[in-house]
Amino acid sequence: MAQRVFFATSEVYPFSKSGGLGDVMGALPLAMHKNGIPTTVISPFYGRISTSNYQIRLTITDLPVGYPWAPITADVYEADYHGVSLYFIHRGEYFDRRFYYNDPKGDYFDNAERFIFFCRAAISLMERLGQPPAIVHAHDWQTALLPAYIHFLRRWNPFWEHTGTVCTIHNLAFQGRFSSRLFADSGLPAEAWNMNGVEYFGDINMLKGGIAYADAVSTVSPSYAREILTEKFGCGLDGILRSREADLHGVLNGADYVVWNPDDDPYLPCRFSADDMSGKRRCKKHLMAELGLDPELADRPLLGFIGRLRGQKGIDLLNSIIPELMRLNVGLVVLGEGNFVHEARLMDLMEDYRGRLAAVIGYTEDLAHRMQAASDIFLMPSRYEPCGLTQMYALRYGAPPVATAVGGLRDTIVPWPSDESTGFIFTESEPMAFLAAIREAVALWTEKPEYWQSMMRRAMNQAFTWENACKQYAEIYRRIRLRI
Ligand code: ADP
Repeated sequence: MAQRVFFATSEVYPFSKSGGLGDVMGALPLAMHKNGIPTTVISPFYGRISTSNYQIRLTITDLPVGYPWAPITADVYEADYHGVSLYFIHRGEYFDRRFYYNDPKGDYFDNAERFIFFCRAAISLMERLGQPPAIVHAHDWQTALLPAYIHFLRRWNPFWEHTGTVCTIHNLAFQGRFSSRLFADSGLPAEAWNMNGVEYFGDINMLKGGIAYADAVSTVSPSYAREILTEKFGCGLDGILRSREADLHGVLNGADYVVWNPDDDPYLPCRFSADDMSGKRRCKKHLMAELGLDPELADRPLLGFIGRLRGQKGIDLLNSIIPELMRLNVGLVVLGEGNFVHEARLMDLMEDYRGRLAAVIGYTEDLAHRMQAASDIFLMPSRYEPCGLTQMYALRYGAPPVATAVGGLRDTIVPWPSDESTGFIFTESEPMAFLAAIREAVALWTEKPEYWQSMMRRAMNQAFTWENACKQYAEIYRRIRLRI
């Protein structure tokens, strides 16, 4: 494909990241590039982007973003990231903030305006660059209006006539739903305002716009692609998703094994690999000292949890069984931030179990790496999980996960008991089911150390590569291009 694919995303690691989306957008474009699909990324220029390491240059000033924003313009910065062109849309009043989408009090009041602006600026930028894109690939609600704009532009603007669109859902729970009065700000034609378009029970729903108007829709694991067609996991959009079933794809994310490689990880005190795991024990001792855990627990399993402290991730399930876990005589380390109630509960529990439970509230990339390396068992009791990257990293770092049987967790973990097992899966999102699965893991760790070693080795040898995902996206693009 000679013409370019454009990714539009609200996060791109290492420039910006609040979760898995950032990781994916940091790795997938590079993999696309390597696989012969030239890919350009467009993302917001946040105030917290560090410009020093990457030579970000201001290349366009005062780019008009068009009706109904005539007087409002964007500046555009450009960077080259290992051969991938990145464009950052800059407008200080929208993006120069401490956080990406919300502050501790809640969502920013103008999120609709911020990301409508971003999408419109992205359209203007692609036109300014002069060559019609082959594919515009939008990721999550923040950019999901792009397929809607292009759907309507294709009718009368020859520039867009042969551009195909994809909308990828990284998390269906976040939809960008706002008051109907913001529909006028979007600049979409009146006909988009209906139940098969962006309207959702009297509101504008940006993700629904992407689902309705993209040539293809995808999500980030085959299991999640099936689950979101059901009422239980469909977050109110299962109806429109079912209507797009023929164009809905589940493409499993890959892990970036350059960034997440225990054999070459600058954040670790020592390195290890599937062939020589001795360094893992040292990583464990080091982290236990760093977080003030009782050194006597070094001979017992260390359990780890990393993630947003929200219901999705099942942090409430974990909190509710911590007293029982402590009776198993294990150590537990938790890293995350999110809901204040869960954070406060963790702080209380830490008081009760000093030296055995360490919880760090915050977002710290390097600690996340050290925790993966130190953990013997990784906990991931998500209620739903579109793909999940943390369990992939845990596998690579030799920490078999205990996880719920949902979405990408099912697609990446081979459950015990089996000769191929790489972790533990439980079916019901219930504290007792979670506890029972952890008990099984702890018993196996304690009683069958040789089996555990072989399980670790299998886990570490799993490879969820981006090459696979690239091939599948290339095939989706190819089919779209045959149609338009
Ligand atoms: P999600 O995108 O739903 O948050 P994923 O498992 O796909 O979950 O990706 C989460 C990413 O965010 C991982 O790279 C993980 O290490 C990182 N992460 C989550 N919470 C924290 C935290 N508190 N500190 C550092 N990194 C975190």
